[in-house]
Amino acid sequence: MSNASTTIAEMTDTNQQIVEKTLAQTNSEQMLKQVRQAGIVGAGGAGFPTYVKLQAKAEIFLVNAAECEPMLKVDQQLMAQHPDKLIRGLLYGMFLTGAKQGIIALKQKYQAAINALTPQLPDNIRIHILPDVYPAGDEVITIWFATGRRVPPAALPISVGVLVNNVQTLMQVADALEQDKTVTQRTLTVNGAVNKALTVTVPIGISLAEVLNLAGGASIANPAYIVGGPMMGKMIEDLNQPVTKTTGGLLVLPQDHILIQRQTRSLDAIMNMARNVCEQCRMCTELCPRHLVGHELSPSEIVKAVCYEKVAQPSVLLSALTCSECGICEAYACPVEISPMRVNRMLKQQFRQQGMKYEGELHPADPMIDYRFVPIKRLVSRLNLEAYNHDAPLQPLNWQPKQVIIPVQQHIGQPSTPIVQVGDSVSQGQCIAMPDEQALGVAIHASLAGTVRQVSTSSIHIVGE
Ligand code: SF4
Ligand code: SF4
Repeated sequence: MSNASTTIAEMTDTNQQIVEKTLAQTNSEQMLKQVRQAGIVGAGGAGFPTYVKLQAKAEIFLVNAAECEPMLKVDQQLMAQHPDKLIRGLLYGMFLTGAKQGIIALKQKYQAAINALTPQLPDNIRIHILPDVYPAGDEVITIWFATGRRVPPAALPISVGVLVNNVQTLMQVADALEQDKTVTQRTLTVNGAVNKALTVTVPIGISLAEVLNLAGGASIANPAYIVGGPMMGKMIEDLNQPVTKTTGGLLVLPQDHILIQRQTRSLDAIMNMARNVCEQCRMCTELCPRHLVGHELSPSEIVKAVCYEKVAQPSVLLSALTCSECGICEAYACPVEISPMRVNRMLKQQFRQQGMKYEGELHPADPMIDYRFVPIKRLVSRLNLEAYNHDAPLQPLNWQPKQVIIPVQQHIGQPSTPIVQVGDSVSQGQCIAMPDEQALGVAIHASLAGTVRQVSTSSIHIVGE
């Protein structure tokens, strides 16, 4: 067990008292169990179970608060509203992992968050100001900016002594350890062509259609929808699907918007374009963040290798496994609208099915690395998003759902097994599905008090009281 005194030394009185009290009543093993039982997973998108991450030993605990996907405004507002909770969540993380240093990496433009956090920072936690570029929030790039350390390709951040967590995740850790709260809500942004762009905390399991209603509905006649950010989010057609622990946002754009057009392009069409119009200008490689930081990944070489089998080198193709799918090559770099990212995605799927792994080494960083990341303003302009990128202020939820449909798998790992039956009454926050003891997974909880209407292998339907 780590020494608590190193992590709570210089905190404000209130935070210090709360953390000391919590740590005095528990130990590392119990804390990890509690984090698992509370259902906490990486809220940044991947949904990796947090209790596993927190078992590692780290030198630096990094909060990735870059939020550099244009149009998403969640973490920046949560930090401004609950700075103390984030700091305490980070301190618990530092305690469990033994990290001596905590860093909150965010952008200068999140001034309200900086103002709220700064007076509460203990000596062992600092703020790092990231440049306002994309993708400063790709954890490999965040680590490089905030610590100067470079994560080798296909390796985890912990290989360089850094553990990375998301803002909401750490706040959930504080809630779980201090108040025994379980994960039943998700804060997300609804932005774009809507009548009232907002950021709001909603019960997990409500539909995206209900989320859209909270923003006053679409403001255009031909809406298309993206779940997540404009760069890495996925287009969806079915608004009946539920909000999960990893839903970061819902964006509404016109169907003829370039981002929607790109997402609807078939892989065949992309491969045809790659064969016929790739100029081998290498712009995709010159601007690829992973390539810049010293990874072998070279989207232009992959496109060439896929199109012309004779020049295909196995390691070049396998390096597709190290693509973060940040979208820079597709949305910003390529002058002729080819999507190396989609080619990489296809290769990743094939290689994973075949159980293939990439084992290339870290090369020196590109000497141009300081000049090649894309300023967010330029990205927003290039993507034609200026008219859709609203402030989306954090609003209280003045609405209660009639029902929720809660997926039993919202995380990486195995689905949890329902422990309730049709007709059962459940309270808000009650555990309704459990992971197998030995499996990678977390508990799932009711986000609404009511009666269980339906239980399947994929979800639990609860109707409100
Ligand atoms: S999506 Fe493109 S730019 Fe981004 S990491 Fe992958 S290859 Fe590089
Ligand atoms: S940027 Fe486009 S045209 Fe240039 S090498 Fe890459 S895929 Fe080919």
